[in-house]
Amino acid sequence: MLNRWIDESTVITTVCHARPDGDAAGSSVAVAAYLTACRGKDAVAVFPDTLPATLDFITDGTDTVFADSEPEAAKKRIESSDLLICLDFNTMSRTEALEEAVRSFSGRKVLVDHHEDPRTEEFDLCFSETAVSSTCELLYEILLTMPDIRSDASALPKQAAVALMSGMTTDTNNFANSVHPGTLKMASELLAAGVDRDAIIDHIYCSERPNRLAAQGEMLSRRLRLLPEGVACAVLDDAFMERHALRDGETEGFVNMPLAIRDIRLSVLAREDKGFFRVSVRSKRGVSARALARDFFHGGGHEQASGGRIFIPSDVPSPDQVEAYIERITARFMHENASAEKQ
Ligand code: 5GP
Ligand code: MN
Repeated sequence: MLNRWIDESTVITTVCHARPDGDAAGSSVAVAAYLTACRGKDAVAVFPDTLPATLDFITDGTDTVFADSEPEAAKKRIESSDLLICLDFNTMSRTEALEEAVRSFSGRKVLVDHHEDPRTEEFDLCFSETAVSSTCELLYEILLTMPDIRSDASALPKQAAVALMSGMTTDTNNFANSVHPGTLKMASELLAAGVDRDAIIDHIYCSERPNRLAAQGEMLSRRLRLLPEGVACAVLDDAFMERHALRDGETEGFVNMPLAIRDIRLSVLAREDKGFFRVSVRSKRGVSARALARDFFHGGGHEQASGGRIFIPSDVPSPDQVEAYIERITARFMHENASAEKQ
């Protein structure tokens, strides 16, 4: 059906979630590059927000519109499309700045995503699979079934192949988490097709600004609380973000670091952002990051990697009480979790 819908469309647009990560950017670019190079379509990748500098290389050579700098152009592009391909989110509210335009779009909407509980009623066709590393992995499987690719990764445009490898690399934390048999098969086929993985690693993991490392050092040495329940918690307020001149996306990965400690099973990082706190949650197997984010942070995500928000003053009266709040709810959550395990 997707193949037929592509045939029947001329103007095709991709959209992904707000503050795009490598998987969102990679899947968007892979679709746009494939549709342009192999199908001759007018394909554009529309993003709710600009990408972090370390991911910029993914969009090189792709037609893009970023809604934070060109809101009208983004809206117009979506409105004038025949087909919308939605990537790496399970509900339209995750597109934030694009939500209104995506919801009011009257044409066909296709979803390709790997999160739990997709709102299937919001889309006309859904490809949803949680037992994959990334949206890029699921998309790769879909692209291989296309009549002009016929299971041959080397038939993919080079830019699509690089984008897919990049997205699966970031979503697996460089092949540390969520690695399935299909993940390594895909990586192997893309390598054989000529993707330069060293160059991708250089862009993603070896192109940071020095102040990001300084911020990481301060977070680990001064902000991190290790709680007796096996929980690590760090709160980064506006003053911290300003002192290190951190840009959006530059705290990516901070939340994973405390899980390197033997007894830590849950890591929570809260970052102040225009009057509320964005929360990232990571856990080791047996503890559900998703349940914590869903029950306490108005969010969700994957079993071991989730996110949400803390609102001021409805959740917590003031920013200086966020840390105590996280300590309280995670202690409760871990106790309930432990008693559930015993039953
Ligand atoms: P991160 O901590 O990297 O921002 O987010 C990790 C994962 O949590 C994302 O891939 C996404 O699945 C989920 N997530 C992050 N923020 C939210 C949110 O506000 N709502 C929901 N439902 N999921 C989120
Ligand atoms: Mn993803």
